[in-house]
Amino acid sequence: MITQQDLISGIEEYCGEVNEELIRRAYLFTLDKHGTQLRESGDPFFSHPIEVAEILISLKMDQDTIIAGMLHDTIEDTHTTLEEITEHFGEKIAKIVDGVTKLSKFESSSLAERQAENFRKLLMSAASDIRVLIIKLADRLHNIRTLKFKKKKLRRQYIAKETLEIYAPIAERIGIMGIKDELQDTAFAELHPEIYKTIKSRLRHLYDASEHIISSTVNEIQKLALKIDIPCSISGRLKTPHSIWEKMKIRNISFDQLSDIMAFRIIVDSIAQCYQMLGCIHRNYLVIPGRFRDYISTPKNNNYQSLHTSVIGPLNKRIEIQIRTKDMHQIAEFGIAAHCDYKINGAQKPKTSTDYHWIRNLVSVLENASGIDEFLANSKTEILSDTVFCVTPKGTIVSLPRGSTVLDFAYSIHSDIGNRASVAKVNGSSVPLQTIVENGDQIEIIVDHKQVPKPAWEGYVVTIKAKTAIKKFLGAFDRERITMIGKSNFYNCLERYDIAVTDRDVNSICENLKCESRTQMFYAIGSSQITMREIITVYNEIKSANLNLSVVDKPPASIPNEGEPSIFGLPNLPITPVSCCSPIPGDRIVGIAIDNVGIEIHIEKCRLLPEKEREPNVKMLELSWNKKAFDVNKKYPTNLYITSTYEPGNLSKIATAIENKGGDIINLKIGEKYDNLFQIQIEVEVSDIAQLAMINAELRSVPFINKVVRS
Ligand code: MN
Repeated sequence: MITQQDLISGIEEYCGEVNEELIRRAYLFTLDKHGTQLRESGDPFFSHPIEVAEILISLKMDQDTIIAGMLHDTIEDTHTTLEEITEHFGEKIAKIVDGVTKLSKFESSSLAERQAENFRKLLMSAASDIRVLIIKLADRLHNIRTLKFKKKKLRRQYIAKETLEIYAPIAERIGIMGIKDELQDTAFAELHPEIYKTIKSRLRHLYDASEHIISSTVNEIQKLALKIDIPCSISGRLKTPHSIWEKMKIRNISFDQLSDIMAFRIIVDSIAQCYQMLGCIHRNYLVIPGRFRDYISTPKNNNYQSLHTSVIGPLNKRIEIQIRTKDMHQIAEFGIAAHCDYKINGAQKPKTSTDYHWIRNLVSVLENASGIDEFLANSKTEILSDTVFCVTPKGTIVSLPRGSTVLDFAYSIHSDIGNRASVAKVNGSSVPLQTIVENGDQIEIIVDHKQVPKPAWEGYVVTIKAKTAIKKFLGAFDRERITMIGKSNFYNCLERYDIAVTDRDVNSICENLKCESRTQMFYAIGSSQITMREIITVYNEIKSANLNLSVVDKPPASIPNEGEPSIFGLPNLPITPVSCCSPIPGDRIVGIAIDNVGIEIHIEKCRLLPEKEREPNVKMLELSWNKKAFDVNKKYPTNLYITSTYEPGNLSKIATAIENKGGDIINLKIGEKYDNLFQIQIEVEVSDIAQLAMINAELRSVPFINKVVRS
């Protein structure tokens, strides 16, 4: 157990002024009050609050918090009164101790009765002073470290479950990842000892086998960094058993299938270097598609920032890499404590260019507050203020962005519940679906199977999940898409029959088809209400009825077959895949039949085509897509080359632009940087050229993108 002197020098290490006398008094007070009480482990009880204080020191908390940490169980477990604490240690410390004591009351009641109702009280009281919450986390951390000494298995399991469900998420929310990991891992070991043991022993085995992999990977990345002259520190580790278990559950795979259990962290000096380092990693190693995350431009809710990517690293091992700056690392490891540190070390100014808005709030409090205690007292709920917590009737906590409605809540549970929501009850009374939820609301959604989303609902919700689900249901998305497809089908079809139409022609066709507008006609074509055959027929009718519209120098176009192949003109031969170009529905395509082998399908403009034509034993085929038969749900890959100026966070903006238009990114490579320009190659899956055109347009509207070219 830590001595008084260690405690004091521990605080002095990061905190300028220390009231030694007060700390000694608190230490002795704790010893005296808990006296001969024993813990189940047989240790004297007072070892618990003193060790909690030690944890708080490791988080670099202020003096008041550490003293309150020492005193946190005196009211609950001894005859000490709040008045006594106020008398000895002052109002401020007493208030914190009182806050922790109130939270402890919830712990003694049974799981069932405190569910829901009391969870939210826990959160609410916690929100009254962030320090109360941090002491509670330190308390829980020490309790879970010593959990094995509790004799009753049920009690142990209860504490472990509660730790996973309440405390680990709170630690994550505040951003103290070190505590979050330890809470999760220890609770997991208690709840699933067999699984924990298996994973742990496999990890140990793997660690022995991979120790040199970790060190040689670190060395190799270090060499790459040296080459591009970026100073950095690199560390490698195996992931924690709990995070591995979560992955196995989420992806429904076995340990053997889980290949990226090694994670590496690269810490650099600046945001620019983060992206340079990322580019360097992506150039040197094979990138695993779909795993890249840019949390620098879009920080997580708890303000976590980093770049994440997975690659096939040196020695052909799948590894995860995180890249971040020192500041980001501080915040990731210590959360709020990082800010205290920030004040104490004094000198640096906040980076106003970064996007952590709540940190800016805290920083402004910091700058206006006279001391660190005031800063902590003022911070109160600021940290939690961009999020509201509500609970389901079963007690599950749901976090939503502030301003969310009851309907957002329903969609956050499941889109089916959202779509069928008919009545909502908040804290027992019925409310309209657009009611804005408050922190701690207990919400019950009553579904009606006859209910469907109404257009007005789009205005009732703020979360992306709800918006997307409603739009999807109402078909607003589909309408736009189908119209685009219809439009491209219309022109492609006419082009295929060598028909050049004027605006007037299109209007006449529109009129003859009894459509009110072009949009309506394109939608009707896209949704197969009007067939290509009808268009050609109508066109021919117009031409023969009014020869003055334009000179008809060709015979009327023949009518396409109503057969079902997706490509017209294909003989019955196997199709050979090609790597030079990737045709998608709507492209002008050409087929090359190679005797007794098969058919290659190329884009008409493919650079290899002239060469292919010259080869012996080949026959060119005129092919065209059958717009009527193609399946909009089928996705085709194609490559985009984007030239962009360097801008922090642009990768995520590019990805968002593509995703906005429904494209799926399946691969991404970042090329060499020239001056301030660099090239990104993105492999994206789309259903047709109409969609590709929309993606293209969206990309071109991003300011820093100079050029978008398809391969
Ligand atoms: Mn305690």
